[in-house]
Amino acid sequence: MYINRFSRTRASRKNDKIILLLIALILLSALLVWWWRDNSQSNSIQSTPTQSGQKKAVDKTKENLFNKNLYSVNDPSSLWAVINKGRILPSDYVPANLRQPSGANSNQTLRDDAATALERLFSDALISGYDLVLYSGYRSYSYQTTIYNNFVKSQGKQTAEQFSARPGHSEHQSGLAADVSSTSGKCTLEQCFTYTAEGKWLAANSYKYGFIIRYPSGKKNITGYEYEPWHLRFVGTDLAAEINKTGQTLEQFFGLPVYETYPSEIYQLKTGQ
Ligand SMILES: [Zn+2]
Repeated sequence: MYINRFSRTRASRKNDKIILLLIALILLSALLVWWWRDNSQSNSIQSTPTQSGQKKAVDKTKENLFNKNLYSVNDPSSLWAVINKGRILPSDYVPANLRQPSGANSNQTLRDDAATALERLFSDALISGYDLVLYSGYRSYSYQTTIYNNFVKSQGKQTAEQFSARPGHSEHQSGLAADVSSTSGKCTLEQCFTYTAEGKWLAANSYKYGFIIRYPSGKKNITGYEYEPWHLRFVGTDLAAEINKTGQTLEQFFGLPVYETYPSEIYQLKTGQ
């Protein structure tokens, strides 16, 4: 009897252990299934986005991608037109909507969009205590011809071409380039402008208004020009922010050929291109 009772107890203990083991197994399986479902759900958000997944994807795109094809780089009137020693504007190209922005030297004009942006820049600069002026804006093809020829005559062709563009190759003909100086006239059109309080403010803030320093320091082999801390180019706030972030020139940003000197074959910018 005792033995039998004892063996029954042993048997029931054994059964208890099996039941506990089964429960543990069921719990473990449930845990595994739950984990697998949770994992596959978050994977499916990434590949086929739900509403919150989609938001994540859009944010990622915004961070990594910039639509470089939004505007043409080949159309003379484009906000992103790239003009340099290898790329020429048509001789008869005159931008539409030229006007004199407030804070400009007499007779100095810019394209309306660039003028509005420069007025904002000037008024914010003034609030911070920096009095700026548009020293030189739009230049016609024929005026650029006169300037270039005069420099070549007085300084020789090689020296002149370090800073003065051949007609058609000047960004100033686009109405989007602005030579800015301080009203004090200190270091106007000189590299020492970079050390003035106005020059420093301009370098740090112009991108917020859609302007870039078009000919940065140490990039002559890419832009074809020495450092010009006074020469701003209007490209709009989106591109200016990108250029400011990447530290590239327009040529580098758009993957265009670079020219330190004038090449034998010149690319002609054309309306509609
Ligand atoms: Zn200039």
